[in-house]
Amino acid sequence: MDIVVRHGDSLSYYSQLFEIHYQLIIDSNPGIQPERLSIGERIRIPGYESGEYQIKQTDSFWAIAEKINVPLDALLLMNPDINPNRLQAGQMIIVPQRITQRIVQGKQNYDYNVLKRDMRRLQAIYPFIQSAPIGKTVLGNDIPEMTVGNGVKRIHYNGSFHANEWITTAVIMTFLNDYLLSLTNQTPIRGIETLKIYYDTSLSIVPMVNPDGVNLVLNGPPEAWKNRVIELNHGSLDFSGWKANIRGIDLNDQFPAKWEEERARNPIVPGPRDYGGEKPLTEPEAISMAELTRRRDFSRVLAFHTQGEEIYWGFEHLEPPEAETIVREFGRVSGYEPVRIIESYAGYKDWFIQEWRRPGFTIELGSGTNPLPIAQFDKIYQDALGICLAGLYL
Ligand SMILES: [Zn+2]
Repeated sequence: MDIVVRHGDSLSYYSQLFEIHYQLIIDSNPGIQPERLSIGERIRIPGYESGEYQIKQTDSFWAIAEKINVPLDALLLMNPDINPNRLQAGQMIIVPQRITQRIVQGKQNYDYNVLKRDMRRLQAIYPFIQSAPIGKTVLGNDIPEMTVGNGVKRIHYNGSFHANEWITTAVIMTFLNDYLLSLTNQTPIRGIETLKIYYDTSLSIVPMVNPDGVNLVLNGPPEAWKNRVIELNHGSLDFSGWKANIRGIDLNDQFPAKWEEERARNPIVPGPRDYGGEKPLTEPEAISMAELTRRRDFSRVLAFHTQGEEIYWGFEHLEPPEAETIVREFGRVSGYEPVRIIESYAGYKDWFIQEWRRPGFTIELGSGTNPLPIAQFDKIYQDALGICLAGLYL
């Protein structure tokens, strides 16, 4: 929601008027000088949308403010061209509407278009989200990243490395939405005060590493790729078992961390899953993730997958001791089983642990056969929520 600065206004006054934390307003208006607002300047207020209200007989601004529970001055601020002493029945005025409900509906086939639409909506309401593509997929789709907070702990969450594990995108986006609601409304989540998290951390989210693959699983092949992907899929039109990118390369087998050993146990030709490519980091999606990770120097990464209700936290004993402390808490809040050693290599978290010796986790959400039925969403989200929070507060 935008407002226009009047004589004598300040950001701290807006913070009080709308009951939105000062720093969130600052971060929603990059480039402004907080101590020197100019009259007529537009300021974005996060956590609100502007709505309309139709004036009735005998209405006054004061009565409307009482009725819709907003301060009188918020109405004056938002309707600078209306004379409150000359209201006319039928006239429309603008009113601030605090957002208290989720935009993201996780319980649906969460494809790339749904993701993009939800991102646009969230960025409009919460302009303190920073967002930019980290690269493009094989089909030329942007791979988006969103960042929340400017704290020193640089934490990264990603989802849908594997195409048929797209429910992880729905989970991460729902968590992001809950975090944003909690920040603007100052409502704790499971007793956790999130404004402290906002100051302490910067949360980087890549909700869908593999958009081409997700769309293939959910919507079928794009026309130009139809013959090729059906061939890679062994002649089948059922893509529910597809994990790879559109070229049949498994993005979570693409990282230079014992890549040769992973190759030795896997298929040696492209296909729906487990083929790691001709060499590490050949695929644009994997390269984008590697470049992002090098550039940002993350303190900690959580890669969300399905399924198994397990959390993988080790790689070749290179993980730091604090990884064990963190995974214990993840296990406690979710009921999931921490697993240190598995016979699998060349994954994103393996490479992260190997290169940085910092905590990296693969979280296998839910249980059943991939793709997990969306009917399980609520249960999976409740398990994941504790992990998503602990990933930030620990
Ligand atoms: Zn996976």
